Amino acid sequence: MANITTPCFHLFPRLPLELRQQIWELSIAPREVVIVGPNSNFGHGRRASPPPPLLLTSTESRSYCQQFYTKAYLLNGSTSPIETLGYSWVNFDIDEVYMTAADFMFFSAIPIVQRLTLVSHIGEYFFHRVENILPRAKALKALTIIDREGAPADRWYGGWSDFMEERYYRCDPEPCYTKIVHDDLVLTPDNMLKFDREYHKTQWLPELEENPDEYGSDVAISDDDADPRDSRRRTWHHTKDCTCPQKSRQGYRYL
Ligand SMILES: [Zn+2]
Repeated sequence: MANITTPCFHLFPRLPLELRQQIWELSIAPREVVIVGPNSNFGHGRRASPPPPLLLTSTESRSYCQQFYTKAYLLNGSTSPIETLGYSWVNFDIDEVYMTAADFMFFSAIPIVQRLTLVSHIGEYFFHRVENILPRAKALKALTIIDREGAPADRWYGGWSDFMEERYYRCDPEPCYTKIVHDDLVLTPDNMLKFDREYHKTQWLPELEENPDEYGSDVAISDDDADPRDSRRRTWHHTKDCTCPQKSRQGYRYL
């Protein structure tokens, strides 16, 4: 008879318990967990994620695999959950949590979330409220912010580049990697100076060229990040006990 494969493995229950548990554990896969709250205007029909499949497979898989998941809630301002919203099971080691910046304010798992995507509709709200909460997310390894504010293409990143400067343009940068996504543009700690350069080229260079006497010949917008004539100033944040040789030049990009 030809080989017949079937998705069912009927002998599974007869495997030793330890082996069954090992198989459950190996089946745990990373998920994107969408958390829906009162401010979840995602704008593209995202729904709250269902529980992880292993918590629905069988009583045995559920009772064994629950230890790998934490119940995450949105809180109603105090420490009690908003009950009508229920909870989400999250494996914070591997799952990506996806929610709006406004809902993040009420997230029960801020200190333990490791991978996070925040949809931000109002930059001002983010910078006044959410930014102050982020330092509590001490386990955060990867942060993606989806900017949906609808600002003009040449303006959207202004506030975000200052946010990135604060996090990464320093002797003690955030260990968490942050990406800011606006349509198909992605601002990262690696390309923030390039964004600055492009912005200044379009916004400031015309003025510089029109008034050369006012700015002098030692001012330029260079394609070289290390060109000292470049006057795009980002404030480098030193630590108290860093030993940077040119620490006294705080306030300049080139140190
Ligand atoms: Zn320093």
